[in-house]
Amino acid sequence: MTEAYGAAFAVRWMETVAAAVDREAGRLTELDAAIGDADHGANLRRGFAAVADALAKEPPATPGGVLVAAGRQLISTVGGASGPLYGTLLRRAGKALGDGEAVTRAELADALTAGVAAVGQLGGAVPGDKTMLDALVPAVAALPESFAAARAAAGEGALATVPLRARKGRASYLGERSVGHQDPGATSSALLFAALAEAAEEEAEGAAG
Ligand code: ADP
Ligand code: MG
Repeated sequence: MTEAYGAAFAVRWMETVAAAVDREAGRLTELDAAIGDADHGANLRRGFAAVADALAKEPPATPGGVLVAAGRQLISTVGGASGPLYGTLLRRAGKALGDGEAVTRAELADALTAGVAAVGQLGGAVPGDKTMLDALVPAVAALPESFAAARAAAGEGALATVPLRARKGRASYLGERSVGHQDPGATSSALLFAALAEAAEEEAEGAAG
């Protein structure tokens, strides 16, 4: 049987991200303090809280609509580089999903792949530049296999940023001194995909129970 994921699933995903970035804000900010300006946790906490609020007030009817609305909130509420980048990821993915009431994991993987490509276009980074793309690219590549594989790939991608030298974003100003630190954005991208897997597990439990 092919599972289908609707608007409620997409909302749960975004709520789970909001809870995760709230819980992990201190760690994200600590990572950003080492190679950036110590605002990544606060940026994402504010952004995803606004996303959860907007979705609770006016829940869109389709998963695509949910992601477009979430992306729009991030773009308008987050001042740092990560807001427009994550906003573009979700908005582009939501547009790619179109107006179907439910989507398959394969469709979600295609849509998020388009979203990640848009992040690359907007920020001009490629994998290996020590950015969120180092987690996002392997995650969307693994998503056709399973949600759990995407979560694992994102986590490994984030860890793999430690020895890299940053070539994009604020951390790139540090040059060699960016080596030896995990990228904050790759770390939050791992949270995004961990939340997706968590939401999918809850969905499966709901379907079974
Ligand atoms: P800012 O750098 O403006 O303070 P944040 O601290 O919220 O914004 O986000 C920093 C993260 O954004 C970095 O760790 C990196 O993963 C990501 N990032 C920055 N610039 C780019 C870029 N050009 N392409 C992709 N990701 C980027
Ligand atoms: Mg920052």
